Amino acid sequence: MKVLVLGSGQLARMMCLAAEPLNIRTLAYDVNQDLVVHPITQLPVDMSYADAISAVDVITAEFEHIPAPILSLAEQSGKLKPGANAIQAGGDRRIEKALLGQAKVNNAKHHLVSDEASFNQAITELGLPIVFKTAKEGYDGKGQWRLKEAAQAQAVWQQMASVLASSDKSQAIVAEQFVPFQREVSMIGARNAQGEIKTYPLTENHHENGVLSVSLALGENDVLQQQADQMFTAIAQALDYVGVLAVEFFDLNGELLVNEIAPRVHNSGHWTQQGCYSSQFENHIRAVCGLPLGDTQLIQPSLMVNLLGEAEVDNQVFALPSVGVHWYNKENKPGRKMGHINVSAADKATLTSKLSQLKNLLPISTHQGIEAVLVKLT
Ligand code: ATP
Ligand code: MG
Ligand code: MG
Repeated sequence: MKVLVLGSGQLARMMCLAAEPLNIRTLAYDVNQDLVVHPITQLPVDMSYADAISAVDVITAEFEHIPAPILSLAEQSGKLKPGANAIQAGGDRRIEKALLGQAKVNNAKHHLVSDEASFNQAITELGLPIVFKTAKEGYDGKGQWRLKEAAQAQAVWQQMASVLASSDKSQAIVAEQFVPFQREVSMIGARNAQGEIKTYPLTENHHENGVLSVSLALGENDVLQQQADQMFTAIAQALDYVGVLAVEFFDLNGELLVNEIAPRVHNSGHWTQQGCYSSQFENHIRAVCGLPLGDTQLIQPSLMVNLLGEAEVDNQVFALPSVGVHWYNKENKPGRKMGHINVSAADKATLTSKLSQLKNLLPISTHQGIEAVLVKLT
């Protein structure tokens, strides 16, 4: 089998690393440079996008903001999994909100904003505070505004109006009721073409400046897990989804609300590389290639620490047992996702002491996220 991944970043790389032992070959398509490359070496393969489409059995994606002409060529080949409908739902919050409504899953009340009248209407309908998000292209908390008090309404509207004026006509803004959540959790799961679904244990996520810092999977809350499973299944079925899907939730007093979905493998699922027998990357490849799904049970409590804008770690990290280092082979830039570290331990107490040990060996940029998790664990 051969798989073409739309996008050539770390997610394509880790899909390739998981696919090779299954005897499945991967290619990646760098959509910005219009280049087909090897997902690990990044070396160009002498092939056009059209050639690559013909050469593979399956096409999948590592991100949802794919230019429409590229996505439609993939869709027309009949090889794209998940389908363009799912990728578009992840790439446009208007489509996403309609989907969540159709799947009847709990989510924050919203209102579409395209001009000043609809902006004022959003405030009337939703009440304050409100989170405004661009419908397209937003990630890592970019393209968002918070409105807490009516006195700031004009100033916030001016900022949004200038973004709308400088964007193409297809851009819009989705206003969402602010959710005063206690925690953010996510569920990663897979569905194959036969309709088989397997989900991983819920992950608790800690962000720094809008970017994921640490994900923690303890596998201990059965009630929340069941709620999330039910919503995951409703969304995956509504999309007739094939592949790995990520669903982000707000935990509001033990009630889950869907924040957003990502139609792909997800940063908050990287711990599955050592916390489970089949990682999210392997299960994505299995699902899109029509294989039965692999085991998603938690072997041991696990967590992941993102390395943001960091190009190295102390070699003593390699001396820690059940600690895995994963670099992405990218050029270092401030705040850029350069790699991650996975940690597992037999129980929560051992995980906690291991994480404190690890913290002393990691760059300061990781400390705030790690400390937030240490507080939770103890
Ligand atoms: P990602 O990088 O996860 O794709 P994103 O840019 O698409 O992020 P969201 O996940 O929608 O953005 O929002 C970023 C963060 O803003 C959330 O993780 C959450 O902390 C906060 N947030 C978003 N929507 C709301 C809301 N309705 N109420 C309260 N906080 C919110
Ligand atoms: Mg997002
Ligand atoms: Mg998000």
